[in-house]
This record gives sequence, C-alpha cells and structure tokens, in this order.
Amino acid sequence: MMNTMQGAIILGGKRQVELREFPVPEPGPGQVLLRMKAAGMCGSDLHNIYRTMNLEDPGHYQGCIAGHEPSGTVEAVGPNCEKFKKGDRVIVYHITGCRSCNACRKGWIVNCTSDQRSVYGWHRDGAYADFMLTEEYTLLKLPEELSFIDGAIISCGFGTSFQGVRRADVSGYDTVLVVGLGPVGLAAAIIAKARGAKVIGVDISPERVATAEKLGCDLGLVADDEVLNKIREYTNGQGVEVSLECSASQAGRVLSLEAARLWGRVVFLGEHGNLSLNPSFTVIQKQLTLHGSWMSGIAEMEDAIEHIVRWKIRPEDIVAHTFAITEVREAFELSDAGKAGKVVFAWD
Ligand SMILES: [Zn+2]
Ligand SMILES: [Zn+2]
Repeated sequence: MMNTMQGAIILGGKRQVELREFPVPEPGPGQVLLRMKAAGMCGSDLHNIYRTMNLEDPGHYQGCIAGHEPSGTVEAVGPNCEKFKKGDRVIVYHITGCRSCNACRKGWIVNCTSDQRSVYGWHRDGAYADFMLTEEYTLLKLPEELSFIDGAIISCGFGTSFQGVRRADVSGYDTVLVVGLGPVGLAAAIIAKARGAKVIGVDISPERVATAEKLGCDLGLVADDEVLNKIREYTNGQGVEVSLECSASQAGRVLSLEAARLWGRVVFLGEHGNLSLNPSFTVIQKQLTLHGSWMSGIAEMEDAIEHIVRWKIRPEDIVAHTFAITEVREAFELSDAGKAGKVVFAWD
C-alpha cells in the first residue's frame, strides 16, 4: 500500500481549495481505514466553509481534510474491531460522539452534547482524500444493489431527506409539497413519491423544476406570484397535507406554511436565514404541526439504506457532475458558479 495520499483542504471563506499530500493514517483500536470510492459535495461545504466561514460559531471548520459524504471499502482494521473486515463496502455516518450522552445512546450522534462530538470533514479528517480514518461504530454496510456514489449521497443528503419525510409520516394519503429542489429537496421528493404520495415540487430555478419532473414529481412549479394559487387549484382548493421546506428562504418558508391545509404537517429542513410571519393565520388557526428536522440518527440512516434498496431508488440519479479528487478546484468553482446540481468525487 502507498504511504502517502492526496487530500483536499478548504481555505475557509476564501473561495480556495488546495490538494495536499498527507501520510496514510493507521487505524488504532476500534478504528477502520477506508479506501475512498466516492465522496459527495454537500451544500454546507460551499455555503459554510468555501464562501464564508463564521469563526464565532464554535462548530466551525477546523482546516482538516474536508468532505462529509464518504463511501468506500475497508482497507485495514485496527485492534478490537468486530463488525467489518477488509474489502467490505461501507457508508459512513459522518459524525462521531461520546457514545454515552443521552443523544448518543439514542443513536442521534448529530445531537451529541459532549465536547468529544466531532464531524468528519469539519473537525477531523474527512472524505476528500484517497483514504479516510473512521470509527468502526460510524460505519454502515453498503448493500450490493447500491453503487458507491449512491452510498456517498446517502451519507448526509439522502439521510437528512429520508428523516424529514419520515417525520411527517408521509403516505399515499398525502399530497406533498417540496419547496426548494436542491439535492435535499430532490431526494425528499423521490422518497415521498416512493412512499406513495403525490408530489409537487417548487423552486425559483426552471432547470431544477425540470429535473424534479424528470425524476418523478407529479407537478413542477416555478415559484412566481401565482404559485400558491396553483398549488390550491391542484389540491381541490384545500392545500397540501404535507410541506417539506428545503429552500431556507423567507418566501419558501412562508409558502410551505401557507400551502398547507387545515391540520397539515410542515417540516423545516433548510437551515439558516430568518423567518418573519404572522403565526395566527399561517400556523395557529390552521392547526398545523410544525417539525424541525436535522440530519438523521444512525439507526434511521440504516433504515434509509434498507428502504432505498427496497424501493429501488438510486440516489445517484440526482448527480449532475462527477470529478476526480485531483479536479477538486474545478469542482468547487463549478458549484460556486451556481446551478451545478449535485457534485460528487469518484475514485476508480
Ligand atoms: Zn452535509
Ligand atoms: Zn454524546
């Protein structure tokens, strides 16, 4: 095996990314070294690290090898590993925790309250490298039916979407509005469809709306002054049973609430920004249930993998561009220019 590897560091807030040489790490007790096969670019890499970095945020990026949507094969296992062996195909749940706080005990490592909480690609070395050192308990088996690119996309994006859809308990009884058709919104639309719902997709970009229709949305709408009326028309004047808000914009958030019918369920997935509204008319008097949904637990990610196979969903369908890690600069520049859709890195 090689002794060195290439890994990408983002120079936070400077719109720069650099490929550097690193020693290939050795797995310690309970650790597994992965040979990377695919790594997705998450919107947060671009919005929260590459373009701007808020150093006041205690969780900010620490300048390690970036990338938190990893999928690959086991290259070597350290002492005391029990579940995985060389050659196994895996997905990585991208956060490590203390394993003993209440959130960790529930498998919701994302909500770990200990200062040991650490995110691959933010606080410890991540997926934009030829090899990656992981904790065995954060690994999930990648089934044969799925490609490594499928696996990488499940790691953050599809896991988040799956949990948001699950939170609203979407079924064939529902018409579901997805607001914002980036990777998380597209995945939410695909999963809601697989659960039997009728799905309406809304975005400000006609290209994204066209992609959503191609991937199975029953109705795609470009957000304009008439969009709320069009949604009401499509739903017998009642509005939708469920809204999944993935745009993180003021207008998108208000639309997701206004388009919901009486007793409707609304899930907020899109992060950051602010929201100003009159809750009397948009939430309270309509008897809405409003959920916030952040990432997924590790058991929920395992459920997502099982159902993605069962429903014959291919997460890689949302990929717009695939790059080699040596092209990391071009990949970020393309994404930064907008309209790129989902970008992944792949290894042979
Ligand atoms: Zn992410
Ligand atoms: Zn914890």
